[in-house]
Amino acid sequence: MSELSNMGEILVTGGAGYIGSHMCVALLDAGYTVTVLDNLSNSTSESIAAVQRVTNRTLDFVADDLRDAGALARLFGRKRFAAVLHFAGLKAVGQSTADPLAYYDNNVVGTLRLLEAMTAHQVRTLVFSSSATVYGIPDVMPITEDSPPGPINPYGRTKFHIEQILADLQATDPAWRISILRYFNPVGAHISGDLGEDPNDVPNNLMPYIAQVAVGRLPGLRIFGDDYPTPDGTGVRDYIHVDDLVEGHLAALRYLERHPGLAIHNLGTGRGHSVLEMVRAFEAASGRTIPCEIVARRAGDAAESYADPTKANRELGWRARHDVRRMCEDVWRWQQRHPQGYRA
Ligand code: NAD
Ligand code: UDP
Repeated sequence: MSELSNMGEILVTGGAGYIGSHMCVALLDAGYTVTVLDNLSNSTSESIAAVQRVTNRTLDFVADDLRDAGALARLFGRKRFAAVLHFAGLKAVGQSTADPLAYYDNNVVGTLRLLEAMTAHQVRTLVFSSSATVYGIPDVMPITEDSPPGPINPYGRTKFHIEQILADLQATDPAWRISILRYFNPVGAHISGDLGEDPNDVPNNLMPYIAQVAVGRLPGLRIFGDDYPTPDGTGVRDYIHVDDLVEGHLAALRYLERHPGLAIHNLGTGRGHSVLEMVRAFEAASGRTIPCEIVARRAGDAAESYADPTKANRELGWRARHDVRRMCEDVWRWQQRHPQGYRA
């Protein structure tokens, strides 16, 4: 693991995407050399250009698909990676229900190809982007890593299957160092306003939806239910700033240097906020009114979901620092500067 301590080269799969691009900024700022592998199926190379602008550093961008074994063999053949941060994947819950095979193929088969290439080239340090969706609809809050898994849609099941594959692999070959990070609700944008979340279609997630309403791209927010057993009746989630999230990955890399094996950590703030609280926070940050309409609950939504981040606090020496106000301010800066996202 001396390669990591010496700021070795890191492969970031999905590095052109929302979280991966912020990760690249943090890695370059921390002194790592970075290669991104991304097929741009849900992103644009503009995000790579933005990463290089805000860091004043360069990275190597490879526009290939994770499932292309030949491309992976060439990449791993010409570079010696100290670790892989694996963000690449499809993430839309609704789409995963409409086309489960595409999700299993992209997420599970893509990960298998990656693990095969890593094995063949003796790269055995991996950080995997998992999700709180692996917990399904848990009975007890806050959610600890010991809460029973029970994903309720194909997207969540791809994450859960990958976690199991990783556990099997690590059990077979103890040389593997694997960190599974279960993200709660990543939001926020880089402080510069030059990097942020840029959904291809109408956003499914609350924060980018609110931001597009505030900037005038969408007419109003539909709030999915106000009759949940929560303080104001709307759904409660653990929103975490993307900068805190990527700091969690740097902490996981440091942890893996000292701890071979497989570790699972929740990355969340430990605090829940309702939809109405998020709307008000965004109105305060933007000075805009967000027209809202209460509609029926969205199928498959939990009333509340928030992390117990104690294990990550203790073992990774990491904790989320940014509050909801800062999350909204940063999203608004990005949205105002890029009302149509990167493509404009
Ligand atoms: P994103 O869609 O912005 O980024 C994913 C990137 O992976 C995209 O740039 C896409 O082009 C690329 N990609 C997808 N399939 C690929 C393939 N077969 N080969 C190469 N590249 C491929 O998503 P994000 O929000 O940045 O999420 C990153 C990871 O974190 C994903 O694995 C996602 O499931 C996970 N995650 C995200 C959230 C969230 O709310 N954003 C929550 C929990 C977990
Ligand atoms: N939500 C909403 N309207 C939207 C999108 C989301 O009311 O247009 C609510 C949703 O019901 C949930 C919360 O906002 O209570 C967060 O939803 P998101 O899809 O962002 O995250 P997830 O439900 O996957 O945790």
